[in-house]
Formats: sequence, structure tokens, C-alpha cells
Amino acid sequence: MTKKKNRRSLKTDLVLILRGYRVLYEVCPQNIIWTTINSIAQQFAPYFTLYLSAEIINQLTAGASLRTLFMLVLVTVTGQLLLNASLHRLSLKQEETESIKFELNELYMLKVECRMQYKHLESPDTALLRQKIRNSSIYGGNGLSRLLQYYQDLFGAIANIIFSVSFTMSLFRTVSNAGLTGFTAFVNHPLSALVLLALIGLNITAEMLSIYRFEPRHTNLWNAFALRLSRCRSYSDCNADVTVLGAVGLCIERCRRILIDYENECLRESLKISEKRSFISRAMETVTNLVLYLYIGAKAYIGTFGVGNFFLYTGSVDKFLKAVSNFGSSISGLRRNNDYLVELYRYLDLPDDMYRGTLSVEKREDNKFEIEFRNVSFRYPGSDTYALKNVSFKFRIGERLAFVGMNGSGKTTFVKLLCRLYDPTEGRILLKGIDISKYNYDEYVKLFSVVFQDYFTFAFSLGENVSALQDYDAEKVWSSLKKVGLGEKFSQMERGLETPLGTDYQNDGVEISGGEAQKVALARALYKDAPYIILDEPTAALDPIAEAEVYSKFNEIVEDKTAIYISHRLSSCRLADKILVFHDGEIVQQGSHDRLVADTTGKYYELWNAQAQYYT
Ligand code: ADP
Repeated sequence: MTKKKNRRSLKTDLVLILRGYRVLYEVCPQNIIWTTINSIAQQFAPYFTLYLSAEIINQLTAGASLRTLFMLVLVTVTGQLLLNASLHRLSLKQEETESIKFELNELYMLKVECRMQYKHLESPDTALLRQKIRNSSIYGGNGLSRLLQYYQDLFGAIANIIFSVSFTMSLFRTVSNAGLTGFTAFVNHPLSALVLLALIGLNITAEMLSIYRFEPRHTNLWNAFALRLSRCRSYSDCNADVTVLGAVGLCIERCRRILIDYENECLRESLKISEKRSFISRAMETVTNLVLYLYIGAKAYIGTFGVGNFFLYTGSVDKFLKAVSNFGSSISGLRRNNDYLVELYRYLDLPDDMYRGTLSVEKREDNKFEIEFRNVSFRYPGSDTYALKNVSFKFRIGERLAFVGMNGSGKTTFVKLLCRLYDPTEGRILLKGIDISKYNYDEYVKLFSVVFQDYFTFAFSLGENVSALQDYDAEKVWSSLKKVGLGEKFSQMERGLETPLGTDYQNDGVEISGGEAQKVALARALYKDAPYIILDEPTAALDPIAEAEVYSKFNEIVEDKTAIYISHRLSSCRLADKILVFHDGEIVQQGSHDRLVADTTGKYYELWNAQAQYYT
């Protein structure tokens, strides 16, 4: 069982919470506003009833006329009706803005990820951090949306405290006109009010201290449980080993035992903490209530105020003490949620150190965007080996290039640098003689249509998949689909370009094969119609015949664009104008197939011969 202490100071916790609320206000200001108004109104309503009921009793005991009493009852009932109707409308209004909760956790993360520097996106550390945040949300029940819930509780408690204090003020101010002797003098004396106030203050302090002292223990306990829960899930993922070994029973039973035993242990510990805490709270509350009732009762008894006010004051003070307790619980809930916020802020604050210039990329009809790699070397962040070493290469416009080489030889890294997903560690990449970092990034990436190895299709409509836009040019989408050979298939679909791909979001979606998905990705590259078109191992999942088909199609559709085709199947590459042979991060050979294959001492010859048996 963990004994680790929560070491964050109250001040640090407050800073974290305030930042959380800033994020919240940024995402859903409407919800915050309506929650605030609703909380105030909800807390006010019981005081309204309490006040008027007390007044009715006061009038009754003072022998007021029937007319006065009738008027008072009428005001109370009408007021209550109006108040209830307004509260209902306010709650509806708040609910209307509630759907924003989806905007918080997952969607907020997605928004952040979409803008994140690529090196973080690809980094295993970032993936781990993301997983931690998700686990804290899924298994620990934390998240940005929890801030909303606590806001309502917290604000409700504050409003309640303000109302109860306002309604109780007169209790201490009013004094009896009776002769100031004995018991009357004691009750009327300002000191007795002071003693009472001190007792209430003590009660509040005890409540806060108990929350401050005991809540972190609860937090650590259940956070540890959440962690164990998430780990257990990932250890017991069913995989081939589990299936072939027949270890399913073992996995499930072990996981079950670990969790049940641990949960029982946590529950026992949690109960112990709660018992200690509630003993102190309850003892303080009982003493305070006793003294309070005595004080208020005595004041009513000596005629300081009417009997009705006895109910008003005791009711208000009771509400005050409950509000203080709720305030404390909300604060402790917020502090528990801070474990999530700490990780979230680490994620949000991942530094973006990529320089993005402002130079405009000239628009040209002739696609003459000359790019040159000049002595480029590159190491991935955190790695000490070079993925690219001193690479120099100048693109010729309209040329069809093939990149070949063994796995890990640096082909994809070259493309990532070309698209500026990373900057070179050494050397420079130039567009028309100017370093690419000087150009406006959004304009620069428009120069490339890339189908990466790990391309994916969105679970949205076909049109959105091809265009990557919400408002797309349907004609251009069809033309791209026809070029990749998917026109016929999709023109037969009832919903045409509106056909959803996959059934993740819509039941009437269509499932497409791996080969078709690849063609959709290719159509996407064509829709973008960029001067450089790149296919990075687009056919890894295809058999050689299907690959040959994709390649010949690619060759046909690239038209006058500068094209790069990366494949480990050399047969597909031999028709390229120029083949670049990568080895250990270097371009070791370049030239046409015929020239390269003639060099029997070269890497290309070796690679070609290793595969030649498949082509004969
Ligand atoms: P290829 O495309 O020729 O298969 P890559 O360019 O993908 O080769 O990889 C070149 C080298 O860089 C390999 O040693 C690979 O392990 C390493 N590498 C690739 N991606 C990363 C990454 N994100 N982080 C660290 N190393 C990487």
C-alpha cells in the first residue's frame, strides 16, 4: 500500500486549478456563465422559502390579521412558483451548453495533437505521456470536464455561504429590550456572540484541516489503484501467445485476483481514513450545533426576535455549515484532479522549437520549385546515430525518382526532412537557393502530396477522405478516384461521395480492402495536386502483381510532377528516370536501372540479385 505523500503545496494546486479554469473558459465560456447564474439561483431559492415561512410564523405568533397572513402566504406561494419556473429554465439553459463536455478531454487532446510539432508526435515519450493522461481520465475518473462539475459544486457552496451569512447577520445584531440582568444579559452580551463565532470558525478550520490532511491520502490510494487497473489491462491484452499457450484462464484469473485483492485493501485503508476524518468533523459539528441552538433558542425565548426567526437562523446556519463542508470537498476533489492536470500541462507545454519563417512560396504554373539537399545529416531526437549522413541531392523538375535500399537505410527520413517534419541536424535544404525554414510553413508543405507508409483513412465520407476538406470540389474528387481506378466502384454506391468509409461513426458506412484504402490515399495525393508527389512504400501490404498495377498507375497519373517512389521491390522501380540507392543513411549510388545494374560491385546490383529470383 502506498504511503507516498502528496507533496504539492496549496499554492501550486491553486495555480494548476486556475489554469484549468482558464482553459475551460476558453473552450466553453457559455457553460461557465450559465453554471454560475444557475448556481446562484439554485442556492437562493431555499432561503426565499425559509425567510417567508419564518415571517408567516412570526406574524402568526404576533397575532397579525387574517388579511396580512393571507397576503404573506400568497406572496410565498406565487414567489415559489415563479422561482421554480425560472430555475427550470435556467437548468435547461445550462444543459444546452453542457454538450461542450465532449470538447474537453478527448477533443481537446486531439486539437492539441493536431498542432503539435511532429518530433513530439512521433516520440515514444509523448506516447507514454498521452497514455498516462488517458489512463488518469479513464481509470481515475479525472479530466478537464471534472473541473466543470467541481465548478458547479464550488460556486454553489460559495453562493450558499454568502446567502446564509446575509440571512444570519441580524441574529448577532439584534438585542433584547428586556432588562439586562442574569441570563438575558449573558445572551445579549457581545461576548457570547463572539464565542459562538469563534466556535463556528473553529469548526470551519477543523473541516479544512481534516480535508487537507486526509484527502491527499485518499487521492494517492485511488490513483495507485487506477494505475494498477490500467497496468493490469495492458498486461492481460490477449495476443497470439496467450491464445496459443491457452493461457486465457490464467490471465483472467490472475488479473481478477490482483484487482480484487488490491481493491479490498484500498477500500479498507480508505475506510480507516474516512472514519478518522468523520469522527473529528462530526464531533465538532455536534458541539457547534448544540451551542448554536441554545444561543438562538435563548434569544428567541427572551423575545429578541419572533419564533419564526428561530427557524430562519437555525436553517441558515445549518446550511452554512453544510456549504463549508461542500466547499472543502470540492477543493479536495479539485486537488485530486490536479494529478491529471499536471500531466496534461506537461503535454500542452511540450516546446515547439521549430523556426517558421514568413517568406511566401512563389506561385508558379510551371511547377519549377527547385529543391536541393546540401550536405544534410540528421539524427532523431535522443538518438546518437545518424539516420542520414552528409546527403547532397538536387531535384530536377518533372523527374521520376525511385528510392531503394534496405530497411532503415534512411529513405523515409529523407522524405520527412523534405516535408520539413524535422529540420536537418547539419547541412541545409534549399528551395530556390533559400533555406526552407525561411518560408511560411503552410505554404511550403503545399508543395508535397505524400502517401506515407502508415497512411490512414478517416472514418468520414469518401469525399472528405479524398479532399481532406469539409467543403470539397466533387468533380475533382471523382476525377482523382477515376485516375486511381476507384471511380466505378464508388459511382455504384447509393450515397456516392457521401458514402462513409468504415462503420466507426455511421452504421451505413462501407468497409474497404487494404488495397482500396491505399488507392483512396493515392487519390488524396492527386486531389492535392502538389508539384511533388511521393509514395513511400505504398504497396507494402500488396502482392507483387497488385504493386505493379499501383506503380504503373502512379507512373501514368503523376503527369509532369516531380515524383518519388519508394519501394523495397526493385522491379517496380526500374522504370524510374533515376534511382537513388540508400545505404546506412547515405546515398551510395544514383542513376538509371540499366546503369546501376551494370555495376556489379555496387549496392544496387547486390539488392537486385537478392530479389531477381522473384522476377524470373
Ligand atoms: P527506411 O525508410 O529506409 O526504412 P528510415 O528512414 O525509416 O529508413 O530509418 C532510418 C533510421 O532512422 C533507422 O535506423 C531507423 O531505426 C531510425 N529511425 C526512424 N524513425 C525514427 C524515429 N522516429 N526515432 C528514432 N529513430 C528513427
